[in-house]
Amino acid sequence: VSLLDLLMPPACAGCGRSGTLLCSACHRTLRQLDAGLDRFVAPDPGVVAGDALLLALAAFAHEGPMRRAVAALKYTGVARLAPILAHASAAVLDPLLGISGRNAKLVPVPVHAERLRARGYNQATLLARSLARERRLPVVESLVRVRPTTKQHRLNRTARLHNLGGAFAVAQSVPTPRVAILVDDILTTSATLEACASVLLQAGCEAVYGFAIAREV
Ligand SMILES: [Zn+2]
Repeated sequence: VSLLDLLMPPACAGCGRSGTLLCSACHRTLRQLDAGLDRFVAPDPGVVAGDALLLALAAFAHEGPMRRAVAALKYTGVARLAPILAHASAAVLDPLLGISGRNAKLVPVPVHAERLRARGYNQATLLARSLARERRLPVVESLVRVRPTTKQHRLNRTARLHNLGGAFAVAQSVPTPRVAILVDDILTTSATLEACASVLLQAGCEAVYGFAIAREV
């Protein structure tokens, strides 16, 4: 227990109750996405720039306490939620590792340097590092976001892909993994993962998968 926790006990990101960052009552309400089609998101048919990402998988529905926990991690600086969310979702990474093979490396979806400065961290990097500890996997920050993108939540998938064109590049002096699992907090249309995947493939990566803590359902 840190001094800060004694002075200011943590509040549950889901319900606000004092004591833990995510209380057991909220934890029990997290809805795991069922195996099968609900969990696996393939790129939409008919989207031209949609064939780089092989498969993406998300652990929980992005709703209720999970939605609030992801928002707290992302927008209010509660970085310590990352290991909690990663621990809760690590078991869902296993079927993906079964497909990708154990040589896969985790690659966080990057944020732009401006946002990194404002936020102090990239939530996807924190999640990737925590997942890596859970499953003894390497993390490589192979991607950078070279230009900021406009907020995407009102755009459809085609508009998102257009919005993301040229947004990502491979990081200088960081080797591109042969097999990559992109890690992000939320999966919506998979346009972000798709844009990242195509950059990795162009840099010599052979297979790109995606993993998110929560999925918009
Ligand atoms: Zn709670």
